[in-house]
Amino acid sequence: MAEALTSTSLTREDLTRWARECGFDLVGITAALPLPQFELFQQWVQRGRAAGMTYLTDHRMDARRDPRHLLPSAQSILMAGVLYNSREPSIGTLDDLTRAWISRYAWGADYHDVLRARFEQLARRLPPGIAYRICVDTAPLLERDYARAAGLGWIGKNTCLINQGQGSWFFLGAMLLSVELPTDAPPPDRCGSCTRCIDACPTSAIVPTGQATPAWELHAGLCISYHTIESREATPETLRAAFGTHVFGCDICQDVCPWNRRAPRTAAEEFQPRTFAPPLEQMAALTEEQFRALFRQTPVWRAKYRGFLRNVCTAMGNAPRREYLPVLEQLAQHADPAVREHARWALVEAAKALPE
Ligand code: SF4
Ligand code: SF4
Repeated sequence: MAEALTSTSLTREDLTRWARECGFDLVGITAALPLPQFELFQQWVQRGRAAGMTYLTDHRMDARRDPRHLLPSAQSILMAGVLYNSREPSIGTLDDLTRAWISRYAWGADYHDVLRARFEQLARRLPPGIAYRICVDTAPLLERDYARAAGLGWIGKNTCLINQGQGSWFFLGAMLLSVELPTDAPPPDRCGSCTRCIDACPTSAIVPTGQATPAWELHAGLCISYHTIESREATPETLRAAFGTHVFGCDICQDVCPWNRRAPRTAAEEFQPRTFAPPLEQMAALTEEQFRALFRQTPVWRAKYRGFLRNVCTAMGNAPRREYLPVLEQLAQHADPAVREHARWALVEAAKALPE
């Protein structure tokens, strides 16, 4: 008869094998201790680079200093990545300005639910007596930095975690564990002299830090992803023309990264596109109920109905067509001030671009 596992007999090999069996593509372990990168995060916040993301800058900021705030008995962190690179093409190959571009990570199911379910499956295999906590994006944890520490990849100039063999199209999650396990080591930074992501960013949102390491950082206040996902305000007018037809997020700095050239595709059904590059005209005409039905179970829900409509107006202003005018006229009377303002701006852009 097989001997029962106890918390002291849990091995790193068992745990990482189980994690792979539960559907995690990248797996590594690091110690549940503060990281020096917390100081860099603080400096980034102090430079105002987090823009309006108050969940990064309020009282929860300090909680990120030490993962034991999340689980006082934590000794190790299992960091895991799930590949979401599905079969559809990238924005670079989609040459149709009547379609709304949604970031690749949001094409399928909500990753919070998918990763949590996989971690819960893993938790059921843990020996009794081990305390654990699952964190998928919403807990105050420097997930990318712990993923690097656990050997999953390095942090590129585009600020994504990049795995040498598998690229950067990953969702990350963590499982804090009350057991000490052998740890992995971070890989070297393999960006070298490449600056493709910096050069390709349409809003120049990857900016110099003025320091040696890291030399570059993301200025969220300039980033299309921040403005189309996180912000509830009207987008600064000076940025709008660079948004193209992006209505939720932006993949450009990952699309151009050479480490994604041979990134594997996922066969996971959850991440296959539900709504791939839908027509802008249809998106502008969605009712709140239709928006809910289409996006409630996907990451797009985070933008909320009004934020999404605001983004659709920006896209229509950047690629105006006569048939958009009636719906833009309607949206110019919308109850939400940001939607109203963006629709009026789009009408002005249309008047400039379309001949009488
Ligand atoms: S997501 Fe888009 S806007 Fe943001 S840094 Fe990357 S390329 Fe620039
Ligand atoms: S595009 Fe080049 S510089 Fe940017 S993250 Fe990829 S390898 Fe690094």
